[in-house]
Amino acid sequence: MIELLGKPVAQARKAVLLEKMQVLVDQGVTITLGILLVGDDGAAKMYATFMEKVAKGANFGTELVELPETATQEEVEAVIHRFNTDERIYGVLPLMPMPKHIDSEAVIGGLDPAKDIDGLTTYNIGLVSSGKGGYVPCTPKACMAIVDHYGIELAGKKVVVLGRSQVVGKPVALLALERNATVTICHSKTLNLAAELAQADVVIAAVGKAHMVHGSMLKEGCIVIDVGINELEGQTVGDVDFSSASEVASAITPVPGGVGSVTTTMMLEGLYEAYHARNGHC
Ligand code: NAP
Repeated sequence: MIELLGKPVAQARKAVLLEKMQVLVDQGVTITLGILLVGDDGAAKMYATFMEKVAKGANFGTELVELPETATQEEVEAVIHRFNTDERIYGVLPLMPMPKHIDSEAVIGGLDPAKDIDGLTTYNIGLVSSGKGGYVPCTPKACMAIVDHYGIELAGKKVVVLGRSQVVGKPVALLALERNATVTICHSKTLNLAAELAQADVVIAAVGKAHMVHGSMLKEGCIVIDVGINELEGQTVGDVDFSSASEVASAITPVPGGVGSVTTTMMLEGLYEAYHARNGHC
């Protein structure tokens, strides 16, 4: 069984990115990421600090705007508008969750698609769905970076995606389809999940239920990409029970240390792409 570790994938992709960034640094160019944090959500705060650190570490600029829990819809949307019109800002991350009284769909709706590096806007979702480019959310992109790094061929394979969320399940299914896989998307109303899994050459699990998939449900030799991040008895675990799955699968991503380790690098790649897209280089 091969453990599909995320760190080597992130390191390899980041090395390429840093080299390209150095060229811009030498030219005095700064690509700035705008981060909007609204309210007191602990996870969003931690992510904001973390993104600032990784972006700076890769020679990107950052501007973090923090609004209090009591911020109004107008105040939140005004920050998005300012980021949209600020030429120094190439990518914007509106961090979720926002306070309950904020209509986050409307906030995302106001985001300039050209700066939507996490593929949240309907415009980018449309482009990705129609295979016409667009920014793909970072987690599905990270899944495909792992697939590419480890030379996993998806063409002709039966890929079963568990979960149909807009940020993971649907886009990862589209990316697998683009690579000529035969894709089945399962969700909470799927009648016979076991039968679907038993036929899967590749399982991409994005459900958010600790150890929902046991090794006994998998086809011998299959490949497992586990996107899930769950807490179980004080530990972070995936949607797939790693220990039983690793006895059946030929390759599997660990949790932690798998998909999650690659996502921030994907975000930075998106930011770099946004710079080139605006300047007509790609
Ligand atoms: P989500 O929006 O809650 O979606 C979960 C999906 O799982 C839904 O489509 C739901 O079906 C489906 N589902 C729920 N119970 C099911 C069941 N018993 N059988 C089959 N499908 C079932 O979650 P998400 O945002 O996509 O995230 C999924 C997981 O990935 C979470 O653990 C999250 O923490 C993790 N995640 C990881 C990263 C990373 O960087 N590694 C990034 C984002 C998310 P319905 O549509 O029918 O409700």
